[in-house]
Amino acid sequence: MPELPEVETVRIGLSGFLPGRIVKSVKHDWPKGFPNAETDVRKFLIGAKVMAVKRRAKVLLIELSSGYSLAIHLKMTGQLVFRASGGEQFGAGHPSDSLVGDLPDRSTRVIFTFTDGSKLFFNDQRKFGWVRLLPTAEAQNIDFLNKVGPEPLSTDFTWKILRERLSRRPNTNIKAALLDQTVIAGIGNIYTDESLWGAKIHPSTLVKDLSDAKLKKLYTALVDVLRLSIEKGGSTDKNYVNAEGRRGSYLTFANVFRREGQPCPRCGHEIVKIRVAGRGTHICPHCQKSV
Ligand SMILES: [Zn+2]
Repeated sequence: MPELPEVETVRIGLSGFLPGRIVKSVKHDWPKGFPNAETDVRKFLIGAKVMAVKRRAKVLLIELSSGYSLAIHLKMTGQLVFRASGGEQFGAGHPSDSLVGDLPDRSTRVIFTFTDGSKLFFNDQRKFGWVRLLPTAEAQNIDFLNKVGPEPLSTDFTWKILRERLSRRPNTNIKAALLDQTVIAGIGNIYTDESLWGAKIHPSTLVKDLSDAKLKKLYTALVDVLRLSIEKGGSTDKNYVNAEGRRGSYLTFANVFRREGQPCPRCGHEIVKIRVAGRGTHICPHCQKSV
């Protein structure tokens, strides 16, 4: 699954190409991946202009002039490939050959054609991803969005909001609480490990045992690590590449994630891999003492 910085990188990439283009037609071959009524498609998608590309948690929202939006989830193997007749192109998402090969191909599920001849391909080998057309006003309220916590990169997200969200899980360990999408949106394994290392917090620490000073440090570390990752092209995992089709470079900057056996960049002690919240977890046992 992509994490928030990967999807944000896709959003930034699409924002450079889609706004202003008008949808001429749409073709799809997978009803579950495109569960939209034909009447809605004719009325609210065809002829609509792309206004903006937004994101909520890991869902991309392409806002249309019709008052509707396309909500897109890439899931495991989704990718978005834009091709313009003038040669402009980029691919984002799962790094298969489809990013650079002739399209459509066997993985193509949806094709949007714009009035200028350019196309946006939604490819998804394993067919877990989807594209939904829904009123923009509802986009923030439908179930899957409603259940996710606040955006860690929004300006409203402060350390006090983090404290308030975490306080709903006082007896949970901090790693599990951070991974819980209803607490904060879009944070996965890599970013929890990196931010807990940054704040010198052992991942098994119960939320109720964290002081305000520690929570402030965690807040700063979390926001920093997300921003750094987006700067580095998002991608953190081998399954995801950035908007230019290049693999993201964030992992090369990771301090603890997948660095077991190597020295901690801060203190030189050996990084170890343990299991917390059912997930492989990377810590420096010297910097991150369990309480
Ligand atoms: Zn250390």
